[in-house]
Amino acid sequence: MMNIYDVTIIGGGPAGLYSAFYSGLRDLKTKIIEVQPKLGGKINIFSEKMLWDIGGQPPIMAGDFVENLIQQAMTFDPTVCLNSKVHVIRKENELFVIETTNGECHYSKTIIIATGGGIFNPIKLEIEGAEKYEMKNLHYTIKGLERFSGHNVLISGGGNGAIDWAVELLHVAKKVTVIYRKEELSAHEAQIKKLRASGVDILLNAEITSLLASEDKSRIETAVIRQNGHPLSIHVDDIVVSHGYNREVSLQFAPGIEPEKKDDYCLLSIGQCKTTVPGIFAAGDIVSYNDKVGLILGTFQDAVLAVNSAKLYMEPGANQYGMVSSHNEKFKERNEQILERRFA
Ligand SMILES: Cc1cc2nc3c(=O)[nH]c(=O)nc-3n(C[C@H](O)[C@H](O)[C@H](O)COP(=O)(O)OP(=O)(O)OC[C@H]3O[C@@H](n4cnc5c(N)ncnc54)[C@H](O)[C@@H]3O)c2cc1C
Repeated sequence: MMNIYDVTIIGGGPAGLYSAFYSGLRDLKTKIIEVQPKLGGKINIFSEKMLWDIGGQPPIMAGDFVENLIQQAMTFDPTVCLNSKVHVIRKENELFVIETTNGECHYSKTIIIATGGGIFNPIKLEIEGAEKYEMKNLHYTIKGLERFSGHNVLISGGGNGAIDWAVELLHVAKKVTVIYRKEELSAHEAQIKKLRASGVDILLNAEITSLLASEDKSRIETAVIRQNGHPLSIHVDDIVVSHGYNREVSLQFAPGIEPEKKDDYCLLSIGQCKTTVPGIFAAGDIVSYNDKVGLILGTFQDAVLAVNSAKLYMEPGANQYGMVSSHNEKFKERNEQILERRFA
């Protein structure tokens, strides 16, 4: 039997996760579809970075913040589909049909597009055989600092991602070396200053040309670099490559329900995070309107607007906004549990 949802959210980043929470708060049957094996969106690519600019939140490691977002999103038990890439959205009678590349069809009265910058895949090292070390000591992201403790780490890249990682790794690694193919690092000035002050080796006009394996062939032991045309060998325990990401934009809309775009990528909001197609809403980095804040905190406001718009689309007589926490019946029981625990 067809299982119909009120709201289906495409993308499980901050915008999608907060939409799921708020949609539950507004009594809507909710589903999230995410292509990656983990919720959290782009934040998962900088999970070791400290976040300082979320309202009311003291500095927090991005990975921990993602866990909080997920926990909050699960408050009203939305259905979550991971490893599912949405590729086509079409309409059958009054329902949206969301097709994924693994052959599933999801049915929904409304849709919130929260696909952010699209699907991010790291740009890989173009060195023959490099892929066999990906499960060993060649990394395209940093999932935890501990495994680098006491190691010689070579970082390839000079943008924000690479330099943020280099700064974080200084705390645990034995030695950090940064190589970059250009003449100047291109990350934020303050981070570059921090890095230079730490005395890290920074090799500019340099790139990895080959990887030499350990005797048992299980890992990379030496990176061969070319700097200004001269070869150089560096002993490594780990190599971290941060050469940016390829963005894959796979989402398509059937003719007749294609939302208007603001530029060649972002969807135009005509107000309240509505797209130009009734029943399709958008939140987070994918949506564009005047005065848009392209930060995590901006995704929360978009999520609230998109969910309220979806609610009113389905129930024109409903309250325009969800109630504040203190007035919402749904929280009464949970508040009591929290207070009991606090005063126990
Ligand atoms: C290096 C870096 C550092 C940053 N630092 C900060 C910071 O310090 N503070 C701050 O506020 N912001 C920061 N940002 C910006 C912040 O990460 C984004 O504003 C935020 O992640 C946007 O959330 P989103 O949910 O709109 O999109 P995303 O986080 O991009 O999530 C979109 C999700 O949709 C999924 N998806 C895409 N297409 C499909 C599809 N077809 N089917 C299924 N799923 C799909 C993706 O896999 C992804 O999980 C930073 C961004 C970067 C790149």
